[in-house]
Amino acid sequence: MCDFCKEKTGVDYIIKGSKETLQICPNCIVKEIYNDTLHLPKGNFESEISKAKTAVKITGELPDDIEYTLTENEAIRLLGYMLLPEEYKILTKTHSPSEFLLHDDFYDEDGYALQPVDDERYEYMLANTKDKILDERIRENASFKETNNIINLIDER
Ligand SMILES: [Zn+2]
Repeated sequence: MCDFCKEKTGVDYIIKGSKETLQICPNCIVKEIYNDTLHLPKGNFESEISKAKTAVKITGELPDDIEYTLTENEAIRLLGYMLLPEEYKILTKTHSPSEFLLHDDFYDEDGYALQPVDDERYEYMLANTKDKILDERIRENASFKETNNIINLIDER
């Protein structure tokens, strides 16, 4: 049963810290992440992305069993469908890309999130990561915008 809405969906995530465990359904996860009110238990496991020793264990049946060991911020990005491209690449080396949370409905082939729970937060995080592909993407967007402006100018005449 979800600790937040108290509903039995049968597809809850179990988030295990060093002392506490949180059970939460996918609907509540999305709502809590969007409102920035999700606080996970404190963990002392090693993150499979950053190797930080503050990670929690995330398990669930979605419908296949999943298991991830991630820090709070990494967990929020995974559960909010807004992993950063480098994080996506690291996880898909050891997890199947057909796992629900890494599915190609949620990420493009370069690991960019297609449906982040919070677009603004995702854009901010992307802008603050050093990433070669990202730089290229920004340049592409810049030239795309310039082209658009030129078209607008032509249309106005
Ligand atoms: Zn719930």
